[in-house]
Amino acid sequence: MTSSALPDVPTQLFIGGTWRDASGGATFAVENPADGSTLVEVANGTVEDGKAAIDAAVAAQPDWAKVPPRDRGEILRSAFETVVDRADELATIMTLEMGKPLSESQAEITYGAEFLRWFSEEAVRVSGRYSVAPNGATRLLTLKQPVGPCLMITPWNFPLAMGTRKIAPAIAAGCTMVVKPAGLTPLTMLWLAKVLEESGVPEGVLNVVTTKSTGEVMEPIIRDPRLRKLTFTGSTEVGRSLVEQSAEGLLRVSMELGGNAPFLVFADADVDAAVEGAMLAKMRNIGEACTAANRFIVHADVAEEFSSKLAERMGALKIGPGLEDDVKVGPLVEEKQRDKVAELVDDAVEKGATVVTGGQVPDGPGWFYPPTVLTDVPLSAKVSTEEIFGPVAPIFTFTDDDDAIRMANDTEYGLVAYAFTTDYARAVKVYEGLETGMVGMNQGIVSNPAAPFGGVKASGFGREGGAEGIEEYLETKYVGLGGL
Ligand code: NAP
Repeated sequence: MTSSALPDVPTQLFIGGTWRDASGGATFAVENPADGSTLVEVANGTVEDGKAAIDAAVAAQPDWAKVPPRDRGEILRSAFETVVDRADELATIMTLEMGKPLSESQAEITYGAEFLRWFSEEAVRVSGRYSVAPNGATRLLTLKQPVGPCLMITPWNFPLAMGTRKIAPAIAAGCTMVVKPAGLTPLTMLWLAKVLEESGVPEGVLNVVTTKSTGEVMEPIIRDPRLRKLTFTGSTEVGRSLVEQSAEGLLRVSMELGGNAPFLVFADADVDAAVEGAMLAKMRNIGEACTAANRFIVHADVAEEFSSKLAERMGALKIGPGLEDDVKVGPLVEEKQRDKVAELVDDAVEKGATVVTGGQVPDGPGWFYPPTVLTDVPLSAKVSTEEIFGPVAPIFTFTDDDDAIRMANDTEYGLVAYAFTTDYARAVKVYEGLETGMVGMNQGIVSNPAAPFGGVKASGFGREGGAEGIEEYLETKYVGLGGL
């Protein structure tokens, strides 16, 4: 049983500085996607628990806003040190609940912890402005203040980083919060909450509610007039309904939603570098990333070389439970996700695509799907419009640059795009023409805590990370100074 491999992790709700059971005492199971076994039971929060969490966040807000920025930054810095020191323990928890290999969990911890460090430094950089009105009669003072209590809803695919990207800037800015991690992967967030508690986050500032009655528990919080901000990372479908709910309270809203990233390879590209980039853009997190390359759009002159090299690299990756040595491809997070990936591949093949590697669900337990490369994919295949969220690389071809950019933009999503070219003028034309919030030029990864992460179109709005990240948690107040 893998549950014996699970390090100690809290399983209760964290509300008002207290760890406690759900009201009524119900729990739900967290499963290991490598074999379907139950790892542990965690508290199944109720509407009443949600109300207690927002009550605690509201009560803590005034005093928290007064804590000196340096002190808030030091809490984050201390949490950063602890997460890095205890990375092995956290990686085991993350791999057990989410499925990805230990090396991927370690990579997420490095990335996710960096938000704690980045915003520990940003906490003391919040500033305002002072100016003279054009007519000279008054002075204009502009200051920044915390937005107020926030609700943060996070997905299962990066259970640490999608949390720290929100929690760290909120702490830095002086906001209190209620966090709702994904039901499939609550353990990483509960572990982090304990670390933040031990790092000195005062009671009520951070509250964590795990629940399986998600909509029922979240909606009253969103509609609570005391809530000031909703920040959500997850699917576009759920995001849309949350924006509607947030309209009632006219909340500040950030939406980090789905993607359908194009990966463009031009005729002049360094094909080996493009394959290297493709391995990252496709296989990071087993393809279960909003930033995962979803459509490879490759110039006909290099398509053959690119596809065969990519298939060779992807086909050689070791598949297995994430805790095993050298495994590069763990199980997908749940059966539903694995079936969806298989269905997208089957649909493409039925419509004429060729399988170069992979393409078959393996026998045995766990929700595994092999790295798969498809060529001759018709635009009518569902993979060209739907987010795959798995290790599948469909390759489309083009001969004209303008067509390639049109194909890249022909999606409701607009999170990220990747492009490989060695021609400077072409590069500028491409990155200026792509309708996305982020572009990786000659690189297969864009995520960086020091950069503004976020999308356009149906990929949402708002930015996380960079100097922009803390602004999402700050209000601007202007004071007119008269009587001069
Ligand atoms: P999801 O089904 O939308 O769930 C995300 C979170 O929303 C979970 O905590 C989920 O709780 C919660 N949720 C579900 N229904 C809700 C409701 N009615 N009211 C309030 N909360 C609700 O997405 P997912 O499958 O976990 O994550 C994958 C998606 O996230 C993909 O589309 C991916 O592209 C996107 N994503 C985007 C980014 C980005 O930065 N743009 C980053 C990572 C992932 P339960 O778990 O309890 O259902």
